[in-house]
Amino acid sequence: MAVSSTSALPETADTPIAAAAATRPARAPRRPRGEGQWALGHREPLNPNERTKKDDNPLNVRARIENIYAHRGFASIDPADLRGRFRWWGLYTQRKAGIDGGRTAVLEPHELEDEHFMLRVRIDGGQLSLEQLRTIADISTRYARDTADITDRQNIQLHWIRVEDVPEIWRRLEAVGLETTEACGDCPRIVLGSPVAGVAETERIDPTPAIDEIVARYVGDPAYSNLPRKFKSSISWLADTPYEVNDIAFLGVDHPEHGPGFDLWVGGGLSTNPMLAQRLGVWVPLAEVPDVWEGVVSIFRDYGYRRLRHRARLKFLVADWGVEKFREVLEKEYLGRTLLDGPAPDLPEKPIDHIGVQPQRDGRFYVGAAPVVGRVSGTQLTALADVVAAHGSDRVRLTPYQKLLVLDIAEERTESLVTALRGIGLEARPSVWRRSTMACTGIEFCKLAIVETKARGEELVARLEERLRDFDADLSIHINGCPNACARTQTADIGLKGQIVVGPDGRQVEGFQVHLGGGLGMAQGQTAGFGRKLRGLKTTAEELPEYVERVARRYLAGRQEGE
Ligand code: SF4
Repeated sequence: MAVSSTSALPETADTPIAAAAATRPARAPRRPRGEGQWALGHREPLNPNERTKKDDNPLNVRARIENIYAHRGFASIDPADLRGRFRWWGLYTQRKAGIDGGRTAVLEPHELEDEHFMLRVRIDGGQLSLEQLRTIADISTRYARDTADITDRQNIQLHWIRVEDVPEIWRRLEAVGLETTEACGDCPRIVLGSPVAGVAETERIDPTPAIDEIVARYVGDPAYSNLPRKFKSSISWLADTPYEVNDIAFLGVDHPEHGPGFDLWVGGGLSTNPMLAQRLGVWVPLAEVPDVWEGVVSIFRDYGYRRLRHRARLKFLVADWGVEKFREVLEKEYLGRTLLDGPAPDLPEKPIDHIGVQPQRDGRFYVGAAPVVGRVSGTQLTALADVVAAHGSDRVRLTPYQKLLVLDIAEERTESLVTALRGIGLEARPSVWRRSTMACTGIEFCKLAIVETKARGEELVARLEERLRDFDADLSIHINGCPNACARTQTADIGLKGQIVVGPDGRQVEGFQVHLGGGLGMAQGQTAGFGRKLRGLKTTAEELPEYVERVARRYLAGRQEGE
């Protein structure tokens, strides 16, 4: 490259450039732009999302839905409510059918959306009574065209919801203690919990009271309904939730002097900048979990970055501050006391999914069963409720792996339950493929999607069951319709991120970027961590089954003793 004679000159006081600079008036130092942190005085909204939240607390949209929109219909909805505040009540417009993924990024929101909604029902801790299960099933068949998906955050999502039906749906849900409050939006989302909380043989404390208290105190509280972005929580004795990718996680640990309590982690999250949560090194007794949770969410509200949406998760603040400063601010500014130092928890060698027949501590058993990629229906959930009742139980749990458990079964009835579940499409002895494959919502309903996911996942599981029936290793496959990683792309053995790729004939087709070798829910330093995105490692959606089969066969051929 040619270099001009002036640019090659050193800028000493002897050069003409330096001499000219010396005579120029000094510029005032540039003020740092700031990240929009409220605690540092940045209270004016710096982007449209912040403006929407400031103009009107999103929780207030419920009254407009009940009093105006449900009566006047979809066309009457204010766009700022429709595409902003509705989310605080679990409502997203769903994608218009027939729009291919290549057009997702170029169309305006109103061109992408259908006049129906996805409605997310929050099920904190994944705990459902029989009555609640029947209510969701009934709403699905009555108002949601028989759709229902178990999400990897223990929610159930319904589709095809009309705004006219929303108040009646809320009435039915709330009559049985369920809600959609803050199921989506920049607020405290569902709290993940162990699907075997209260019944696990090895659990030392059931954290359900802390989950219930957090939901009762803070969910729907306007003081915490305008966060920089979503805030994800996990509270569990066992490491059977993906705690490392939550904004806050409490994980059970025995303190040598104080007994059982919880180890606190902060700053995890996936999407395009994945980060694992970090330990603050503190031990929190059960009774203090809600207060400490409030302290952490308050730090996020006050110090979280609000200028840019893609930097507005807690993980960026934790990464910038470091855990020492984060702990100091939590203790000094928010709790007014010092937290006790605590030991690191023991972590399992592989993720725990609770599938199959397993003992409870009271002598009864639970049965974990797998739908395919979390997809069920209202009809199926009604049948499940009948099966559960017929086997003497009234408790069901959803897992963060898109699976479900039936609790409290007498030993002599477990085989009958396994058979009955199989009869309604829920398999308690699934193939590794069915057991370990998850898929996000994808192009069928999601406006951000680039590719189809659920149907592809069902097809993939069927093909692999046919071709690799006796595959005897654990191999997780997470299928995602775009980079947002709702089905945790980076945490699977094979993580798939939907994108448009070039097919064999040169045409642009649906495909996936592949991440290999991720894993969570187990000891750090063994195999936990994010999968590696391998440059150029892509597959078309059509070739996906062959691709996974090749990876699986190569793995079998090359695995080492005990792997
Ligand atoms: Fe939608 Fe993308 Fe999330 Fe899938 S990963 S549900 S396509 S936003």
